[in-house]
Amino acid sequence: MLENATQLLQEYYGYDSFREGQETIINYVMDGKSSLCVMPTGGGKSLCYQIPSLLLDGTTIVISPLISLMKDQVDTLLQAGIPATFINSTLTAEEVRETMEEVLNGQYRMLYIAPERLESQSFLNQLKKVKVPLIAVDEAHCISQWGHDFRPSYRAIHRLKDVFTDPPVVLALTATATPAVRDDICRLLQINDDNTVITGFARANLSFSVVLGQDKNKFLKDFIKKNAHEVGIIYAATRKTVDLLYDLLNKSGVQAAKYHAGLPEAFRNKEQERFLTDEAQVMVATNAFGMGIDKSNVRYVIHYQLPKNMESYYQEAGRAGRDGLASECVVLYASQDVQTQRFLIDQALDRERIPQELEKLQGMVDYCHTESCLQQYIVQYFGEPNGEPCGQCGNCTDSREVQDVTKEVQMVLSCVVRMGQKFGKTIIAQVLTGSQNKKVVDFGFTKLSTYGILKNKSSKEVLGLMEFMIAEGLLLVKQGSMPTIYISDAGKDVLLGKRKITRKGVAVTKQIAKNDPLFEGLRVLRKKIADEAGVPPFVIFSDKTLQDMCVKRPQTEDEL
Ligand code: ADP
Ligand code: MG
Ligand code: ZN
Repeated sequence: MLENATQLLQEYYGYDSFREGQETIINYVMDGKSSLCVMPTGGGKSLCYQIPSLLLDGTTIVISPLISLMKDQVDTLLQAGIPATFINSTLTAEEVRETMEEVLNGQYRMLYIAPERLESQSFLNQLKKVKVPLIAVDEAHCISQWGHDFRPSYRAIHRLKDVFTDPPVVLALTATATPAVRDDICRLLQINDDNTVITGFARANLSFSVVLGQDKNKFLKDFIKKNAHEVGIIYAATRKTVDLLYDLLNKSGVQAAKYHAGLPEAFRNKEQERFLTDEAQVMVATNAFGMGIDKSNVRYVIHYQLPKNMESYYQEAGRAGRDGLASECVVLYASQDVQTQRFLIDQALDRERIPQELEKLQGMVDYCHTESCLQQYIVQYFGEPNGEPCGQCGNCTDSREVQDVTKEVQMVLSCVVRMGQKFGKTIIAQVLTGSQNKKVVDFGFTKLSTYGILKNKSSKEVLGLMEFMIAEGLLLVKQGSMPTIYISDAGKDVLLGKRKITRKGVAVTKQIAKNDPLFEGLRVLRKKIADEAGVPPFVIFSDKTLQDMCVKRPQTEDEL
């Protein structure tokens, strides 16, 4: 079979070999196994159903949400000598009737349709008479509420199941592979999730980095100066920021173009053209820019503000280095930009989707705070089993000294537990640093805060530590209008002393305070046990051990 497939690849497409993952998927389909194919945009998903459609008897149905692209796709196939057609709302009723007739005559290998078509019973009735070996569901994430582009009509795909007496194989294809989306796709299309192939998310020629706590404008100007002979894209979250950066850069002598949806179309087109022809060195844009742009020599993509989720980030950053040459992807992080994104999410979406979007935003924030390999973080996020650290991202090349921060992390975790796991980062940091502000007092943490076990740090440093802990999965965020923090299983392991935590380039701090209420409580408990046994207290536990227990196994005061 695969010999035939390879032959078709050469004959119709002129390629010598399959890319990673393509053969596995084609094998699944030819073995009659419904499956899910996850590859990034440009990874080569189309071939995974087009080649089987040439090998299988009958007409493959391709469900695609992009009506505007259907004609192009079909034209390309026709040029390659593959008989294909489409039915969508751009056709007249007469044209639909004619096309259907040709389909019934078996004239086509592939029939592209929009999902809305499946809501029509009369259309389904007509399909009954067609021999359909394979249904390819392109952009399959549209079926999931968790996807970035939910289309209710995708849910109608399951109606196809009842149409054919001989159930066709289903092949779902998408570039979005968060576990929630994958689960939805497999569940709703009845695909055995063992038949999932995820590949190609790692882009070896891209070096990722995150810049925290620096003057962004200065960084930008320096970066562009250093890369004076290269072209790049700068993404900002709002139109206003795009306008500001555009002025800033042009004033400092950089040939910058700009693009956002608030600009007149003619102007946008002109700016795009200037960028495509290298007349402008830098494109400053919102996420409105880039769809369908294929400029191969983009050497860097800088996000002046973090985007709303990893899906958007990777798609935008992935516009760098299409030619395979080394390129850079940088996020300039500032915590107020997270607020901007929260605001945008709040503005743009129906209420129901807000928690999901906030959770995805958290994934983006975590990317900015992780100290592990960024490339690994990305491929893991998209569900691909991760390989080795890339060795070239900002974190892999970070030569700052690694320090053991287990104790501090345990202190934070213990404080979170003792506050009942229902407060936000800010107040936890205040209690840890010994603040006695009104909020701390009002919530009844006066006493706890007196001990200020991280008093020698600023609350900003403690917040940084907590963000690091969230990024490392030790603390979890319960989203909502007032996000709260609680402890993950991994966090519990750290509390129990089963895991050490290291961090780069930060000072480690002191032991737990002797007058900590937990310490006092343990001493009382020790005395009680010692009295009952008729021995001196130090025989039960030394003071040092008690201190360690405070750090390693915090419990609420009530439990003592
Ligand atoms: P996707 O749908 O995953 O975004 P496409 O199917 O549109 O990607 O393919 C992207 C590009 O890669 C197309 O130009 C396609 O012809 C090309 N391509 C696909 N498979 C191969 C291959 N095995 N060898 C070389 N080029 C390929
Ligand atoms: Mg595609
Ligand atoms: Zn790395």
